[in-house]
Amino acid sequence: MVNIAFIGLGHMGGPMAANLVRAGHQVLGYDLDAASLAEAAAAGVTPAASAPQAAAGADVVVTMLPMGRHVLALYRDEGLLAAAAPGTLFVDCSTIDVADARLAHRAATDAGHRALDAPVSGGVVGAEAATLTFMAGGGAAEFAEAEPLLAAMGKKVVHCGDAGAGQAAKICNNMILGISMIAVSEAFVLGESLGLSHQALYDVAAAASGQCWALTTNCPVPGPVPTSPANRDYRPGFAAPLMAKDLGLAANAARAGGVDARLGLQAARLYEEFGAAGGADRDFSAIVAAIRERSGA
Ligand code: NAD
Repeated sequence: MVNIAFIGLGHMGGPMAANLVRAGHQVLGYDLDAASLAEAAAAGVTPAASAPQAAAGADVVVTMLPMGRHVLALYRDEGLLAAAAPGTLFVDCSTIDVADARLAHRAATDAGHRALDAPVSGGVVGAEAATLTFMAGGGAAEFAEAEPLLAAMGKKVVHCGDAGAGQAAKICNNMILGISMIAVSEAFVLGESLGLSHQALYDVAAAASGQCWALTTNCPVPGPVPTSPANRDYRPGFAAPLMAKDLGLAANAARAGGVDARLGLQAARLYEEFGAAGGADRDFSAIVAAIRERSGA
């Protein structure tokens, strides 16, 4: 049994913390939102009065927060690092900027602790079912210590390299996904204009070189893949603003590194526009509707 502090018990963190409780660990949790804290408490998480109070007796501190600025503020300004016993392992599972992840590592180690970035893929469904994929960045010893805990919340845990490598893997993967969903959607709209049925294009592309996850698992048109969000009026799934956020992180990293990622930058803009124009609570695959509309179809 490990003493765990879990900070950020929202859509993802709540069920992840519950899975750590189910695996037999002692989990002290905290969230600024009282309703999220109460929900986690109902699932067996012991509520703490503050984040530093949760961290004070912990072996491992897990954070699952919206953005890098929340993680850095909590670590440095809100006393989380200062409250923990020396040598505590800080595992940040939030999706944040690679540069912020490296700052968080540095802040933790400067304070005498150890750190790992371990963002996830798999969404709320994966968080609930403990089938997330974890991408970790940090030292081998830190990874070895965290791995059994991450395995209690997921089905696959990959050590990607040093500090920030988990975040790097996450944004690179999601850049592939964001671009490929737009490619698949443009192809379906082009097919429509050429009189090609969705099923015919699907049957060909799924068995040919156009095959990809955006087509065969999250197909943006209803019909060919009955479980895809398109068949339930694009209820997420993976909401468009989350894709916009991840592509924004990828775009920042590409700009900072001087990488010619024109499609990634353009995809980031398209999801942002789509989110602002009514797509905020829809699956990212609903971008097909925006493409159709802009095509005058
Ligand atoms: P969420 O908004 O539901 O949860 C974040 C929680 O953090 C909120 O409950 C908020 O009250 C809490 N919080 C913020 N600042 C805090 C502080 N200082 N102290 C304590 N609590 C604080 O978001 P989510 O959907 O759970 O996502 C969390 C992270 O996981 C994000 O970085 C997101 O990009 C990433 N992610 C989300 C999904 C998804 O499908 N939702 C999938 C993969 C990764």
